[in-house]
Amino acid sequence: MKPSLVLCDGCGSYLPHVGIALPDETHVTSAECFTLYGELLAMTYGDAELRGSLQLLVDAWNAQHPFENYDRKADQSLALHLMTLFLFFEEGVSPEFGAELHGSMMVNRIAFDHLPPPSFRGAFTVEDAFEQFGTPAYHTVLRDWAGEVWSAWAAEYYDVVEEWVRHWRLSSRSKNF
Ligand SMILES: [Zn+2]
Repeated sequence: MKPSLVLCDGCGSYLPHVGIALPDETHVTSAECFTLYGELLAMTYGDAELRGSLQLLVDAWNAQHPFENYDRKADQSLALHLMTLFLFFEEGVSPEFGAELHGSMMVNRIAFDHLPPPSFRGAFTVEDAFEQFGTPAYHTVLRDWAGEVWSAWAAEYYDVVEEWVRHWRLSSRSKNF
């Protein structure tokens, strides 16, 4: 018998039922999508040659699945993902600087507005990336997925994120990216 499929309210993916519960405070996601993301994150992190792609995976999934119960911390987390997506896709910054960028953005951060998310139905999902893991196309699919997620946010909030990035640049005394 085929396992039943479970819809993810974040990305619209249908993934086989795994029968686990989500943590209490979590993203708009199915447990199945959250689990597959966790697996792919561990697989990607575990391969030194893929470290340069890691931030694309992290930003793509998290910006596609914002927190359900938003608060200051949730808004801040989303803002950091959107700011690195802006740098990668609007300014050509390399994703290999992802962790360093997020660290820098935590310093002198401002209070980020809450942004109601756009719809991501019909877009790339973690399943697309999972299928390409271990192939030369993996980085490309991560880039396409992250780029599509960024485009959905940018259609409504480009100016907001650009202003956040501008503020970070002004307040950051760390190295220029
Ligand atoms: Zn999902």
